[in-house]
Amino acid sequence: MPAPVAAAPPNKPLSAPQKALHRLGLVRDIDLALHLPLRYEDETRITPLSEARDGQVVQLEGTVTRQEISHRPRRQLLVTLDDGSDTCTLRFFTFYPSHLKALAVGARVRVRGELRGGFLGRTIMHPAFHAAAGELPDALTPVYPASAQLPQAYLRKAVATGLRRADLDETLPPGLLRSLQEALHGQRVPLMSLREALQHLHHPGPEVSPDALEDRSHPAWQRLKAEELLAQQLSQLAAKRERDALRAPVLPVHAGGLHEQLLGALPFALTAAQRRVGEEIARDLARPVPMHRLLQGDVGSGKTVVAALAAAVAIDAGWQCALMAPTEILAEQHFAKLVGWLEPLLAPRGQRVAWLTGSQKKKQREQMLALVASGEAALVVGTHAVIQAQVQFRRLGLAVIDEQHRFGVAQRLALRSKTAAAQAAEPHLLMMSATPIPRTLAMSYYADLDVSTIDELPPGRTPIVTKVVSESRRAEVIARIRAQLAEGRQVYWVCPLIEESEALDLSNATATHAELSQSLDGVLVGLLHSRMPAAEKKAVMSLFSGGQMGVLVSTTVIEVGVDVPNASLMVIEHAERFGLSQLHQLRGRVGRGAAASACVLMYTPPEGGRLGETARERLRAMAETTDGFEIARRDLEIRGPGEFLGARQSGAPLLRFADLATDTHLLQWARGAAAEMLTGHPAAAEKHVARWLGNKAEYLKA
Ligand code: ADP
Ligand code: MG
Repeated sequence: MPAPVAAAPPNKPLSAPQKALHRLGLVRDIDLALHLPLRYEDETRITPLSEARDGQVVQLEGTVTRQEISHRPRRQLLVTLDDGSDTCTLRFFTFYPSHLKALAVGARVRVRGELRGGFLGRTIMHPAFHAAAGELPDALTPVYPASAQLPQAYLRKAVATGLRRADLDETLPPGLLRSLQEALHGQRVPLMSLREALQHLHHPGPEVSPDALEDRSHPAWQRLKAEELLAQQLSQLAAKRERDALRAPVLPVHAGGLHEQLLGALPFALTAAQRRVGEEIARDLARPVPMHRLLQGDVGSGKTVVAALAAAVAIDAGWQCALMAPTEILAEQHFAKLVGWLEPLLAPRGQRVAWLTGSQKKKQREQMLALVASGEAALVVGTHAVIQAQVQFRRLGLAVIDEQHRFGVAQRLALRSKTAAAQAAEPHLLMMSATPIPRTLAMSYYADLDVSTIDELPPGRTPIVTKVVSESRRAEVIARIRAQLAEGRQVYWVCPLIEESEALDLSNATATHAELSQSLDGVLVGLLHSRMPAAEKKAVMSLFSGGQMGVLVSTTVIEVGVDVPNASLMVIEHAERFGLSQLHQLRGRVGRGAAASACVLMYTPPEGGRLGETARERLRAMAETTDGFEIARRDLEIRGPGEFLGARQSGAPLLRFADLATDTHLLQWARGAAAEMLTGHPAAAEKHVARWLGNKAEYLKA
């Protein structure tokens, strides 16, 4: 096999562009070959200025007739270019001595950029330029996704080399090539091979128009998408078959056992949906094969009790259960709830619930670790501290991961490999998520995951009313808070997330906290943010859940899991900066009791303008529905499924080319093809997965 193009010889450090290639994941020849152009530039022609329209992206060739550094209104380089038909100005706000040299008076240059009309005549801002020399290329020039340390020219060369050297031999057996051709029945054109498809997209012939290349229904795109989806399905199916070959403890439900006792002790009856998913989980637990199930249900749909019932089954069968939550606050709430439900039932059996987090005192931690190791702790609740090296379970039978998408893939893998070394049986795995994947997507895409859905809220909740208001009505919003407080209710105020700057985030929340403290005389207003020490967070939270604190100002740390039924109003400041599912999660913090609840989405339009289209769409969706699945569907519409699945569910973007919303026929083909290929052509299947996923394949199993 040829050496990867970007690899350095042994002992020689990587150059800056090589490092940049690695950072983009471009390590093997095939990675480079699959790094497709973002767009194409037409450098095949020179347009005379006299024929160019304003707003057109053009390539010009001419002579520099003037060069000047102007300081008004700010420092800039102005260059006049004369192409014989007319003149135009090239304008640079950042420039280096190399610019002055290359664009000296008298130089003949080729320039590319968008031509703009204007007060001072026609201008191109920051054009690309080089000395006018040599023939014009006879095909479109690919422009690749690059980075600051990775010059386009270097990347082009690397990709061309990768494309030339990569093994692009056919992996699909003839039968699957035929079925793929049939799946693409709409197309009369013959199926392209992978090699042809890549060749076409990297180096389109002179006759191909840029539009045709961007149209993803083109046979070259279809072939790539089919291959990509097949790789995903193959790797998931392989993971599933691997898992199916493992042994897990058989955990049956006993009449009169802990499961039944817990059901009897609950202060409410389960909803029909909770009963249904509970049975699905119980069926999995009773099989000698590890469960790999996602339990999805809207915020407040009651997933915790379902997890507690599953834990009861495991404990009754003599195994331990671990429950992991992404934040300390959330873990603590689970802990309180589970202790309340389970400890009265566990105590007579000499068992208890243990608690593990990063902020724990050493002594307490050691006590807990001992309980876990001896097995006396039948249930272990905590943050990612639960999967750290010192934690030794005696017999872990069930692991529950709450808000699973908030855990890194690496952490999820750690949980599995941890127990794999220590015991012969693999634990069952239950993942929970309040960020529902639209059902159709989940069913077809996750070959490797069983999905249970709670599609019903517990009774007695009053629907949340959502209002979208401009920041200019802040005073009215504060008056509304006062009215709620007067009725003995509590209020959340969520401050904007400023991604670039945690410090800014904080100063904003602090200012709002001061403002509200002042205008709400006699009310305890608290502040909660991610930088606070755990003990302080805990103190603030307990004041709020205890009812002494009227208003809680926070950054998004309250995003998941907080459960204070008396809170009836939530104000989200700069709501336009949040994503749709994030807004939905936040809103789910109110409407947990019987009182009528409201959510105020306060937005700030940009100075002198109005909100962008996507932001408006998001806020509209929030005002129109409170159904998590409908929200997920709209989110999908607004953002597209690639991003949806990528960022949310796996921690790494998984689908680069295929689009699950439009490529369902290809997905269907890939599902069937994967099963056939894995059974009938295992070597080709392995080659196909390695080609497409390389070292990422392991991640897909998590
Ligand atoms: P989530 O699915 O968002 O994790 P929780 O498990 O926190 O939801 O449940 C939300 C609230 O609803 C909790 O206070 C919980 O005790 C309560 N709850 C759960 N199931 C029911 C039910 N069947 N009837 C009434 N209340 C319930
Ligand atoms: Mg929850």
